Amino acid sequence: MPDHYDIIIIGTGAAGGTMARALAPTGKRILMLEKGGFVPREKDNFDPDVNWVEKRYTPDVTWYHKSKPFRPSHPHYYVGGNTKFYGAALFRLREKDFEEYEQYDGISPAWPISYSDLEPYYALAEKWYYVHAQDGADPTDPPRSSPYPYGPLPHEPRIQRLSDDLARRGLHPFPLPMGMRMSHDREEEAKSSLDLWPQFDGYPDPYEIKADSHILGVRPALQYENVTLKINSPVERLEMDASGRRVDKVIVKTSAGETVKYSANLVVVAAGALGSALLFLRSQHPKHPIGLAYSTELV
Ligand SMILES: Cc1cc2nc3c(=O)[nH]c(=O)nc-3n(C[C@H](O)[C@H](O)[C@H](O)COP(=O)(O)OP(=O)(O)OC[C@H]3O[C@@H](n4cnc5c(N)ncnc54)[C@H](O)[C@@H]3O)c2cc1C
Repeated sequence: MPDHYDIIIIGTGAAGGTMARALAPTGKRILMLEKGGFVPREKDNFDPDVNWVEKRYTPDVTWYHKSKPFRPSHPHYYVGGNTKFYGAALFRLREKDFEEYEQYDGISPAWPISYSDLEPYYALAEKWYYVHAQDGADPTDPPRSSPYPYGPLPHEPRIQRLSDDLARRGLHPFPLPMGMRMSHDREEEAKSSLDLWPQFDGYPDPYEIKADSHILGVRPALQYENVTLKINSPVERLEMDASGRRVDKVIVKTSAGETVKYSANLVVVAAGALGSALLFLRSQHPKHPIGLAYSTELV
């Protein structure tokens, strides 16, 4: 018999980690399955050679561009997913993004929900992720039910000069909404924290000030005893029941080659844009010989 949970969340990145935090207080038995482990916290986190030449934090995988093999720089299989490395500029989508509109490759269909449906969740997520921004400064900002939870981070001197010059020309420069785990918005304190970082976007942060989903999603979720995290647990495939409408089993193939089976009343696939698509492609469907991906019409 597979180990049974109320909810299984596959992936602990921006989506899965945040989802775990939101669901933890429900008391449901929740299992997070994460392909990778924890990013090591070390001085080398900020070393460009380590990150970009040695690629210490990037899996040794081969991808192909028009049949040409290459080793990608940006898949990060860790607790926290790509948010361990991201730039933490946390914009909301715009109202238009939810509507049907024309893209380079064709029509992007309308979402089944609108910006206003998500607005309260953005407001909550901005609190959880310590978003620092300046109210009213971005002329493209969509409507908000509450101000940003924290004031903007100070510009570095060179950027401040640039911003002032642009404003003098009648443009509207604004500080990016940044997720920084600082409980204040006082300029001097913020500055001294910012001085800690020789690098930022693209690098892990050993000080854990960057607002990522490991620190602000997974870790708070694990405060609840109904929540379990299993690392180094890549989901190989989902198995459907005979009706083809329910996930019957979640199959994990560990790096030791062991196969472990889980089941749940609800399975959340949050393995990233590519990871989720690949998982669907590997998963069979009883009524569609080419698999779950095609039967869901999502891939
Ligand atoms: C360098 C860089 C800078 C960025 N800067 C920004 C920014 O400033 N602002 C912004 O909004 N976004 C930024 N992004 C993008 C942002 O990080 C992603 O949009 C976001 O992390 C996506 O969240 P996700 O949960 O969908 O996927 P991810 O965060 O990628 O998480 C997916 C998780 O699923 C796990 N996984 C994958 N396959 C499996 C499997 N089979 N079984 C179990 N687990 C699996 C992965 O290990 C990972 O933990 C940046 C990304 C990068 C790489």
